[in-house]
Amino acid sequence: MSEVALDHVTKRFDSTTAVDDVSLTIADGEVLGVVGPSGCGKTTTLRLVAGFETATDGAIRYDGDDVTHAPPENRNVGLVFQSYALFDNMSVLGNVTFGPKMHGVGKTERRERAFELLELLDIAELADRDPRTLSGGQQQRVGLARALAIEPRILLLDEPMTGLDAKLKQSLRTELGELLDDLGVTTLYVTHDQEQAMAMCDRIAVMNDGVVEQVGSPADVYESPANEFVANFVGTSNVLSGSVRGGRVDFGFAAIEAPDLPAREDANLAVRPADFTVGSGPISGEVRNVFYLGGTVQAVAALDGGPEVTVALDGDGSGISKGDRLDLGLDASDLHLV
Ligand code: ADP
Ligand code: MG
Repeated sequence: MSEVALDHVTKRFDSTTAVDDVSLTIADGEVLGVVGPSGCGKTTTLRLVAGFETATDGAIRYDGDDVTHAPPENRNVGLVFQSYALFDNMSVLGNVTFGPKMHGVGKTERRERAFELLELLDIAELADRDPRTLSGGQQQRVGLARALAIEPRILLLDEPMTGLDAKLKQSLRTELGELLDDLGVTTLYVTHDQEQAMAMCDRIAVMNDGVVEQVGSPADVYESPANEFVANFVGTSNVLSGSVRGGRVDFGFAAIEAPDLPAREDANLAVRPADFTVGSGPISGEVRNVFYLGGTVQAVAALDGGPEVTVALDGDGSGISKGDRLDLGLDASDLHLV
């Protein structure tokens, strides 16, 4: 296990800057998620850490040792990719003992190590199976056992849940999150799925167009997005513009008391759907749509004289439907300057 640091790392491919001056530290034993839309540079970041790509600029350090130009085989990283890429012509045990064998670990020791991991992952009874006969979830665990068998300094996971069905994804998310916690291995977890990252990681870095927009705990990033991109990416968030002066924020369509916000003419304020109080308040609008999202109900409302906002409704939606009038309250403490 190691602390891993990226220090002003840039990676260019011809005219594309895939990773643009990224600085990140993954603490020893920490699970850091890297999230962002497709093409933002997540996989390139992971490949730079693994040594499959070499930085155009900047440095990568493991426990302070500069590994920027070290080949992957000298970095001792454990990798899990989306398709698991298990070896079909080998049993589960063969897959898990393969890495240690390549590292010159003796037969008895590598079998012992493999069984320890298979026990830990609760798949010891699958040791002799052909990976092709396993379920997606079982294959994922074999992939993880194989990556951990080399006792990596860092575990790198790139979209490990892609290709699994939604239900399995949800249960594995909890399981894998707990497992990574228990293992205490320094982990870089790359995914376009911010919900997954939020649920599983100690901290998350939100990437956009090669740049890290924000790094923080899931709660920090969710509750205090650094900018509009983060606000939109990490969850539906409404960004309202207004002016703050004399302890009030004036949105144009409504004004509320905001004693703690600094005065500012053009403020962009992020508001989470759940932060609106539904039923009373100074903001009014008309419901344009009601939809169901992961066990919660949300409404899109067109505010009178203002933009459309997304509002979380209580319970099953409390009988609110398209075309209804809606009164909304908002507490200034739930507004975040972006
Ligand atoms: P993500 O994993 O977030 O989807 P990638 O890191 O794969 O993003 O890609 C980031 C950008 O770098 C994209 O524009 C992609 O086309 C480009 N890119 C990645 N690898 C290469 C490569 N080997 N050659 C040229 N361009 C690349
Ligand atoms: Mg990728």
